[in-house]
Amino acid sequence: MCSGRVDLEFVLRAFSNGMDGVFIGGCRLNECNYITHGNYHALNMVLLCRKIMEHIGLNPERLKIAFMSSAEGILFAEVMSEFGSKVKELGPLGKGEGIDQNELKSKLAEITKLVPYIKLVKNEKLASRLENPEEYDKLFTKDEIDKLFSEVISYYIDPQKCQACMACAKRCPVEAIISAKNQVHVIDQEKCIKCGTCFEVCPPKFHAVTKITGAPVPPPIPEEKRTIVRKSKSKGERDKE
Ligand code: SF4
Ligand code: SF4
Repeated sequence: MCSGRVDLEFVLRAFSNGMDGVFIGGCRLNECNYITHGNYHALNMVLLCRKIMEHIGLNPERLKIAFMSSAEGILFAEVMSEFGSKVKELGPLGKGEGIDQNELKSKLAEITKLVPYIKLVKNEKLASRLENPEEYDKLFTKDEIDKLFSEVISYYIDPQKCQACMACAKRCPVEAIISAKNQVHVIDQEKCIKCGTCFEVCPPKFHAVTKITGAPVPPPIPEEKRTIVRKSKSKGERDKE
């Protein structure tokens, strides 16, 4: 219905499925029927995705966005014909760039996994409205994208500090926290979308969730060592409470 609905993940999925080019057609800018101006979101997403493609060695010209009204059939035909020729000239995805197919597959899978994180970190820019096409190339820079991937944030629960209060597991939006009563909680890094909620909700008195930037996460504590042995309180301590 709206080009703004075309998620970064859809484009990456198309490339992962072997498409040699992706075209997104949107209504003319500033002629959106709604107040949302979703076509600007689509434009920003394309500008970001093109930089990501460059980062992994793909030619960004394989992704195109154009804006036109439904009455502009001739323009649509011209744009598609030109894009079709461009994609043919670039050749099959990856082969045209000289990237090994398996390497490309794993790079695309890695990036796709990071889509929620990328959208969260670049939220502000993805919602911006650049009026001047000359500014498009400056919205996302190469250095910024290189940094985005070299400084990816991960979250880790320190087994020495976790008190199994379960607050993080209850709030995790993707059920990525392995949780049980009186058991040290563990983040399943494969499921984690790096939203940072666990970091925010872990009570300050425990401060068990740590943020790790651009470095590997320590391996999870073995299951047999997750039980928390609580010290029973002395009568004096209980009286104070
Ligand atoms: S960062 Fe978000 S997704 Fe990951 S474990 Fe914490 S709450 Fe869940
Ligand atoms: S919120 Fe903190 S203390 Fe509570 S279970 Fe999660 S990591 Fe452990």
